[in-house]
Amino acid sequence: MKMNCPHCECVARLHSLHAAGLLLREYVYCCSNPYCGHTFIVRSEVGYTLTPSKIPNPNVHIPISVRAAKRRENKEKREAAASLPEAVPAHQQVRKKCA
Ligand SMILES: [Zn+2]
Repeated sequence: MKMNCPHCECVARLHSLHAAGLLLREYVYCCSNPYCGHTFIVRSEVGYTLTPSKIPNPNVHIPISVRAAKRRENKEKREAAASLPEAVPAHQQVRKKCA
């Protein structure tokens, strides 16, 4: 992951990586500008689920994104509607004649 120093905007080089759990990584970057010398940490975190895992880890809890939740809800509605018997429009209904 390319980074620039937030102070002088020169290229920063990746110095080391720290795993801080299953969902978080921390990268130590050093600014390449010798007149700056800034060293800083960049965090990379798993934020939201877009498509749920087919082999979920029971110890991992990642919130589902709002967009993915709506997509899942719409899919469930479509599947529920498809399982219902098809409604016949009123103009196509056959009326029984009274004797
Ligand atoms: Zn710098």
